[in-house]
Amino acid sequence: MAVFKPENVEDFYVIEEVLGSGHFGQVRKVRDKTTGTFWAGKFLKIRKSACSHLGLERSGVEQEVEILQALKHPNIVNLKDVFESRSEVVLILELVSGGELFDFIAEKENLLESEAIEFITQILEGLKFMHSNNIAHFDLKPENIMLSDKLSPRPNIKLIDFGLAYHFSQGKEYRSTSGTPQYIAPEVINYEPLGTAADMWSIGVITYILLSGLSPFQGDTDEETLKNILALKYEFNYHYFSTTSAMAKDFILKLLVNNPIERMSAEECLRHPWIKPITRKQAVSRNRSSINIRSFKKFNAKRKWKMSYNMVRMCNRFFSLRLHCKGSFKPDPLERKCESDVEDAESNPASLMRRRLSS
Ligand code: ATP
Repeated sequence: MAVFKPENVEDFYVIEEVLGSGHFGQVRKVRDKTTGTFWAGKFLKIRKSACSHLGLERSGVEQEVEILQALKHPNIVNLKDVFESRSEVVLILELVSGGELFDFIAEKENLLESEAIEFITQILEGLKFMHSNNIAHFDLKPENIMLSDKLSPRPNIKLIDFGLAYHFSQGKEYRSTSGTPQYIAPEVINYEPLGTAADMWSIGVITYILLSGLSPFQGDTDEETLKNILALKYEFNYHYFSTTSAMAKDFILKLLVNNPIERMSAEECLRHPWIKPITRKQAVSRNRSSINIRSFKKFNAKRKWKMSYNMVRMCNRFFSLRLHCKGSFKPDPLERKCESDVEDAESNPASLMRRRLSS
């Protein structure tokens, strides 16, 4: 059972700027008052009563904490400590200061497949470890793949956000419809029993995007995207994949497979010749092929724009709601806001509470 310290986090850490925010709280840079070391504090709002929709259930946070405690790996964000107050749980996490992998790549003028493979290998190493511990992430997407330090000559991947992760126990089925439409596997949409293979589907989607700058199943609406996934409607359009190696396409083809049992596992991916070439010809082909950087930059710019649009929309909904509830409202700069503040009043069905906005 995870131990949550009842002390006030602010007695031990100085709370600094916001690093990011999500459905149920904010992530802020925090400084250890004793050592001066910087960490990331993930502030999660906790539901105050069973009938309230506001915030997360404590059991959900316990699950995230227990999973993070079980996952000590160089490619997975490390959890140091947990504090709890009446309305909030604060996770003290390793500070991942290199930003998102996709933003780092989008700043480049060119990227060989062999360089992209170095990052994909690290993601797979993190996943192999996670899956061997019977844990699935269930929310793999560009926003959750970060770099520890982008100035290092070999930046280290860190997988973050274990809010939807699940620890499988033997003989117990698990189903969930949570996730982000563009990246979720068919079995998630169909509400079928899930396994670690659902993460491998997301790796197929992420690799496809990384190489081409196209999202394989993206429709005009989330509904259309989900339909495209179920119909396995995707192709390698020559216009976008002209610089892609045949091995890379084979890697994706073996991940975007409808039947989870037939999908490559993280371990199998690490043995695929695109990741680990056996012949000289295979090794050379990775250095002759490159990602479609122009198209990738466009994809990333659009993704960032949508993320800020969603954030502005969320803030507007928050403020108009507060105004509506209180007549006049003075914002408290110290209050930590999150999307669930809004979700409460709009009474979203519980099953959709953790469905992410499309990005
Ligand atoms: P969501 O609702 O999108 O799943 P969440 O509430 O579960 O979000 P996270 O995804 O864990 O929260 O974090 C939100 C954002 O905060 C991330 O996208 C990232 O930008 C930033 N962040 C999270 N963890 C760290 C960290 N350890 N170091 C630096 N930044 C972080």
